[in-house]
Amino acid sequence: MPYRLKRRCPDCREGWLVLLTCPACRKMIAACDEDGGVFADGPAFDQPAVGGCYVSNHPVAGCPACRHVLEFAFAKRAEILGAGVPAGEFMRFPLWREPAKRKRRS
Ligand SMILES: [Zn+2]
Ligand SMILES: [Zn+2]
Repeated sequence: MPYRLKRRCPDCREGWLVLLTCPACRKMIAACDEDGGVFADGPAFDQPAVGGCYVSNHPVAGCPACRHVLEFAFAKRAEILGAGVPAGEFMRFPLWREPAKRKRRS
């Protein structure tokens, strides 16, 4: 189960920041699930990294640290805590959200 920060993306203010780990260098990043922005300045994650990308159902990004382009892994709880993110600032979330159901009024 992936983790995300409890606060919304500081850039678009709509997406959630999903916590990911680079499988090559173990750098942890946060990626916005709305606009694809990548944040590498953990544990604050408030300055967008240049040149990153993220596709919400297939987290591929150019690592801001080692520059490899690969599929990131979802960060584990111990990694997130190890990177200095307080336990109260992140939470699990369902892997792929169901498309929002439209409210119908008959
Ligand atoms: Zn965003
Ligand atoms: Zn890397």
